[in-house]
Amino acid sequence: MTSMIAILSRHVLRFRRLVVTALVLATFVITDEAHTQVAPPTVSVSFGIDTTFTDVGDVVRLVRAYLANPDSSARSRGLWSAATDFDRNVGDLTTDVYQGFPATIVGVASDGPGDSVYVVRVLYARADSTGGHISPLAFQRLYAVRESGAPFRFRLSGALPRLTHGWERRSKGQVTFWYAPGQHPNPAKISYASTFVDSVVALFHVPANHLDMYVAGSMEEALRAIGVDFFPEASADRGRGGRGLRGGIVLAGNPGIGEGYVHELVHAILGPTFPSRSSLFAEGVATWLGGSRGRTPQEIYARLRQIQVAHPTLTLGQVLSYDIPNGTPEDQTDAFYATGALIVDTVYRRAGITGLRALAQLNRDPNTLQAALPTQLGLASSDHSALDRWWRAEAAQKSGVR
Ligand SMILES: [Zn+2]
Repeated sequence: MTSMIAILSRHVLRFRRLVVTALVLATFVITDEAHTQVAPPTVSVSFGIDTTFTDVGDVVRLVRAYLANPDSSARSRGLWSAATDFDRNVGDLTTDVYQGFPATIVGVASDGPGDSVYVVRVLYARADSTGGHISPLAFQRLYAVRESGAPFRFRLSGALPRLTHGWERRSKGQVTFWYAPGQHPNPAKISYASTFVDSVVALFHVPANHLDMYVAGSMEEALRAIGVDFFPEASADRGRGGRGLRGGIVLAGNPGIGEGYVHELVHAILGPTFPSRSSLFAEGVATWLGGSRGRTPQEIYARLRQIQVAHPTLTLGQVLSYDIPNGTPEDQTDAFYATGALIVDTVYRRAGITGLRALAQLNRDPNTLQAALPTQLGLASSDHSALDRWWRAEAAQKSGVR
C-alpha cells in the first residue's frame, strides 16, 4: 500500500498538498506497521536540556539510538523495555510520527516522584530554508524507565498503560472497554460492539483475539493516551475519529458514537488475522461491515452515489487515485471507502471469504487494481468503461439513489 508515510517521505517538497493526503489516509494505521516508517533524518536537542546531568544524558542517548531505527528491533537491541506484557507485545504505538521529519527533543523530565521514570517530549517538524515557516507534524511523548542491564541504563516504555490505569473499564466477550475521565459506559453500545466482534470473527473464521477499546471525548484525548500529544487530523472529523492499532487496540474518539465505533474494530480484528495488501480492501471491508464516521454502509453508498451524480465523468480509477476533480478530502475518502465496500460486498456475494482472501492480496496501485477487478467482480468485459458502468450501477442500486 502507498501509505501516507511513503507519500510524505517521497514528496516532502509538496508538503502542504500532501498533508491533505495524509489526513485523507490517516485511518490506515493498522496496515502501515513498520514497513513504511521513515526515521527522522536528524535528532536535535533543544535549549534548556542539560545533557551533563547523568540521567538526562543517558535518556537523550537512548532516544537518539532508538530514533535512528525506530522499529520492532528495538527490543532485541535492548532499547525497549520487555518488563510488561504491553511493552513486550505492543511497544511503540506512536509510529505514525516517523515520516522522515527532523526530530527535536524538547523535554526530558522526571515523571512523578523519584528518578526511575522520565518523560521525553519530541517534536517532529520541518522548517523552510529561511526558518520562518514551520510545519509541525507531531508532538510525541516517550517514557524512559531505569532498568538494570540496559545499554543506556534506561529503556523506553509505552504511554498507554501508564496513562489509562485509572480509567474506568468494562469487559464483555472479547472486548475490554476503557473510559477516559468524563466518559461513561453505555450498556447497549457495549453489547452491540461485543456482538459485532463475535460476528466478524465468525464470518472470517479468524482467531478471537482480545481487543481493548479506549473510549475518549475526542481524538486528541485518545491520541494523548498513546503518547501522541499532537498529530494533524482531518478537519472533516472536527476533532472526532477513531483508529485501529496494533495489539488489538482501538481508539474511539467520538463521544457521539462511543463504544459503537465498530469500523475500527474491524481493522483491529482483521489487521493481524486477515492481512491485506491494499487500503481499498482494508477500508472497504471495515466500511462494508461497520460503516464510516458514524454512518451506516447504506449512507456511505448514498454519499458515493451523490458524488457520482455530481461528477458525471468521474471514473473509478480517479477515486482509487484520490483524484476527484475539485473534490474535498472528505469526498475523496468517502468515495474511496464506499467504492471499497461495494467491491467487497460484490466479491463476497460471488465468492465468499475465499474471494475476499484473493481480493485482499491485490496491491494498492490503482492500475493493478483496475486490471484485476473485473475478474474478481465477475464482469464479462475487462475494459475500464465496463468497470465504471458496474461501479455506477452498483452504487445506484445499493443506495437506492438512481
Ligand atoms: Zn478505516
